[in-house]
Amino acid sequence: MTKEEPSIKKSLTILIPEGVVATPILTTVTKLVQDYGLGLYLSTVQNLRLLDIRAEDELEIREALAAVGAELKGPGKFPLPKICVGRNYCNLGLIDTMALSKKILATFKDRGPVKPKFKIAISGCPAVCSDALLADIGIKATRAGLEVYAGGKGGPFPKIGRRIAKEADDAMVLGIIERLVAYHAAKTEKKQRFAKLMDEADFPFPEI
Ligand code: SF4
Repeated sequence: MTKEEPSIKKSLTILIPEGVVATPILTTVTKLVQDYGLGLYLSTVQNLRLLDIRAEDELEIREALAAVGAELKGPGKFPLPKICVGRNYCNLGLIDTMALSKKILATFKDRGPVKPKFKIAISGCPAVCSDALLADIGIKATRAGLEVYAGGKGGPFPKIGRRIAKEADDAMVLGIIERLVAYHAAKTEKKQRFAKLMDEADFPFPEI
């Protein structure tokens, strides 16, 4: 058996806030897949990834996507919350997860580059279908209000997030995210998950 390194093929990831694909983007993606013979991957964080892009086609593909307002994944971007469908589409849902995600993005998305790497997830009820307890910042809806968890992660050494707020409303959650992101930025040189910061003496939130 030869030890050939597998070559990584070129791909582009289109950010899809709330996992809801706008019709012009969907139409353009369909056409690009057909015209350029691309593959299409639905990522685990609700984005669309165009696969097998030839170098000579990349610029045209980027231009076609930009023309319909598609935003591509790139360094420094505020992470899109991974969400479940929430109460508009699930009988168990207690909150409109899409609305909360939009509120978070409207507040933070254009605030300049953020340091990697933290993830945000929102779950519409305690079933936590979007794995909010395994996110750096996880929001879980309960009948008593929103709970916020910090420091969760998946990967080879998964960790459940620590609950740092309960009975919160949207405004409180936005304030908590603001403090967490600022703390992460101050404590992070290049990139870092929140799990590494949870036991710092000055971590801004106790477990509750
Ligand atoms: S977390 Fe709750 S609201 Fe969200 S999809 Fe799962 S069961 Fe439905």
